[in-house]
Amino acid sequence: MPTAVFADALYDPATADTTRPAAILIDQGRVVAAGRRDQVQVPRDAVQVDAEGLTVLPGLIDCHVHLCIAGDGVVLAEMLAAPPSLTVLSAVVGCRNTLEAGFTTVRDAGLTPAAVRTAVERGYFPGPRMLLAVAILSQTGGHADQHFPCGVSVLWNPAPDVPESVVDGAEPMRQRVRETIRAGADWIKLCTSGGVLSPGDAPHHATFTMEEIEAAVQEAAAQGRKVMSHAMSAAGIKNALRSGVATIEHGVWIDDEACELFQGTGRALIPTLVAPLWVLRHAETGRMPAFAKDKSRQISEDHRVSIRRAIAAGVTVAFGTDAGVGPHGTNGEEFLLLQELGMSSADCIRSATTVAADVLDLGGRAGTLAEGAFGDLIGVPGDPVENLQLLARAETIHLVVKGGEVVKSSR
Ligand SMILES: [Zn+2]
Repeated sequence: MPTAVFADALYDPATADTTRPAAILIDQGRVVAAGRRDQVQVPRDAVQVDAEGLTVLPGLIDCHVHLCIAGDGVVLAEMLAAPPSLTVLSAVVGCRNTLEAGFTTVRDAGLTPAAVRTAVERGYFPGPRMLLAVAILSQTGGHADQHFPCGVSVLWNPAPDVPESVVDGAEPMRQRVRETIRAGADWIKLCTSGGVLSPGDAPHHATFTMEEIEAAVQEAAAQGRKVMSHAMSAAGIKNALRSGVATIEHGVWIDDEACELFQGTGRALIPTLVAPLWVLRHAETGRMPAFAKDKSRQISEDHRVSIRRAIAAGVTVAFGTDAGVGPHGTNGEEFLLLQELGMSSADCIRSATTVAADVLDLGGRAGTLAEGAFGDLIGVPGDPVENLQLLARAETIHLVVKGGEVVKSSR
């Protein structure tokens, strides 16, 4: 049966135009029509959704989450005590909270096995549409190597259907990329610099040789996939961009040369500004190892300077939060951090709709309510351009519709 949503207003991120009063008609999961109410023909048998008092816009997109990481900090003793199935089941909560915060599409940047997506598609539990990296690949001693000095590896997600993270050399890289695609990956995730939540590396060092990165990009492209790279150091960012990586995650030290390398089809920066804040917040409650707290302190300010530079230089910035470091469902806070660094509120909204959709090759399907797009929308009580706070917290996302089905209504 078709669904018709009647709202005060409809906001189009592409044009920044608002239409009132609005109606959106969805049938078989896709948008049939969206616009001024008197111009949308609603069939008699349509299920009517009352969104009076709300401004409706396309469902939001987060380009960097980890649905199988709970987002309540890193406590090594708890990780040792968690069986793999418990780690996977934590995604049930993460998926629901993400959806209820208005994020109807996500790209999972690793550690979520394909079964989580299958389960959501089968309706076992609610969750967003997802593109998956499944594994996070790094070199020995790199960001995804959770080998501790005592000799124990404490894996973030030891589930048997998440391929192994550590890989060295171009030929082994080819094989690991093939394994990761076999495990259901839509994107390949590499770490071309050190990171914060890993015990044995430093964010300002580059990891993987360009030969290894190029091998991953080639193997991914051969099967229609692109590569995303955790990249903090300037050299790690530039090695990745020069080797054909499509998206740079975090981007803590972007210099002018890197800004130039971003110019090119589909290349984008995913800042995840909120992630270092959550590392420090968890540290305050005793739920973060000292090595991660110290590294996060060292990068926070440089990260902001770098993202401000990239925004000013016109680098394509797509919305991403690294949720899983922080709690799922708090994704919207990133909007306010982007705005602080010089992005207009209309551009902040684009970063999580039209821009994110293009970056993820979902243009015309997600991030828009044009005819034929996914029937995914959210409703907020007011104008999100005037008050970006409305998108920042799950509490002000009063309506969420996914594929024409109301998945949250708090009015
Ligand atoms: Zn991440």
